[in-house]
Amino acid sequence: MVMGPTHAVSGAAAGLAGAGATAASLGDRQNPGELAVYTAVCAGSALLPDLDCSGAVLKNKGGATVARTFGVVSLFVAEVVEKFALLVYRLTSTRHDEKRTNGHRTLTHTWLFNILLGFGVGALCEHFGKPVVVGILFFTFGLAVRGLMADVARKSGWILITALAAAAAGLAILTLPADRGYPLLGLAVGAGGVIHTLGDMITRHGCPVIWPIIWRRQRWWEFGVPDAFAVKVDGWFERVILLPALVIIGFAATAWMVPEVRQLVDSAVTLASSG
Ligand SMILES: [Zn+2]
Repeated sequence: MVMGPTHAVSGAAAGLAGAGATAASLGDRQNPGELAVYTAVCAGSALLPDLDCSGAVLKNKGGATVARTFGVVSLFVAEVVEKFALLVYRLTSTRHDEKRTNGHRTLTHTWLFNILLGFGVGALCEHFGKPVVVGILFFTFGLAVRGLMADVARKSGWILITALAAAAAGLAILTLPADRGYPLLGLAVGAGGVIHTLGDMITRHGCPVIWPIIWRRQRWWEFGVPDAFAVKVDGWFERVILLPALVIIGFAATAWMVPEVRQLVDSAVTLASSG
């Protein structure tokens, strides 16, 4: 897996680029508040698949960084997700699939799972509107912050993250219009998950993305780039090329969609060229 920040930033960039593409093709620009919500949800969802990496719940130890987002609560959720994923793996694997004792990087790392999750979230948002949006924002914003702060987050970091996520949710309650559904939020969740699998696939670990389709007699065949081209986790390519490129894509998309940011960039360019 690539680093948490790369997962989170790739989700944010994809969310912003997707919103930009939607705005360009439909002429329907989101307001900055909605844009911020979609970006945060997509960034957090790009960490969601790793909620299948549990630790020792009773000892409050171990687990993927994201599994520790909301302390022992999310650690417990991760435990349940991992066991369920392992069950699905065992029920659907062919005799050519490897034997596994842990569900990490199985069900939640398939495209079908993330697409269905996106549709489910979209349906809930469409039906119940703002309360569901706020709940999803709370959860995914927490994941996004945890992913970005992976290096600095300490053992008690979850209290700060939970508070930040609650603040973001509170802001959304105050600012988002209540008289409409938010079906596009499902798209943000599904896209974030798929982006995560792409991030994992460029490292030495593959993902069983086309499950349940059988490939080379395995239903859980792990697709990824050949080892010779694989990105080294936390290596120079990820730090010097990939992460900055994603930040630039996200920033360019933001400038394209938010007139105030575009004006700021324009005047900065004019200033630079005249000075
Ligand atoms: Zn992963």
